[in-house]
Amino acid sequence: MRKKLSRQFIDILARLKMKDCVFCRIVKKELPCYEIYEDKDFLAFLDIRPLNPGHTLVIPKKHYRWVWDVRNIKNYAAVVRKVANAIRKAMKTEWVISLVIGEAVPHAHIWLVPRYKNDGHPAGWLDMNNVKKLSEKEMRNIAGKIKKFL
Ligand SMILES: [Zn+2]
Repeated sequence: MRKKLSRQFIDILARLKMKDCVFCRIVKKELPCYEIYEDKDFLAFLDIRPLNPGHTLVIPKKHYRWVWDVRNIKNYAAVVRKVANAIRKAMKTEWVISLVIGEAVPHAHIWLVPRYKNDGHPAGWLDMNNVKKLSEKEMRNIAGKIKKFL
């Protein structure tokens, strides 16, 4: 009985966590985003704390805690590649950093951060505090520009 109850409690907690998950809420359109790409399994949108203009997140629509839990990882990689190449063309840079950290939001996500000359980040790495201030209009324009190359 006690075991059953604790199991139920864990299930409820998991469901509550997913309900609060920011990315799940974006997938459900409960929260807005600067959308770049969407298909039945994946979604890409601009990070609202961009380390550079064009900083994009690619997520599975289904809630997975870690990128390495995503089942159809081949399809995930194909979407990431497609979006990264669109960013390269739209933002006129060859160099797009992809990063998997997984701490900020507990929903699998891959970062795509385009790099530019004199963008304030150290060579070969990103300064996580170097967040660019972009207006809503600039964010909308960037999203629109990247979408054109998909
Ligand atoms: Zn989620």
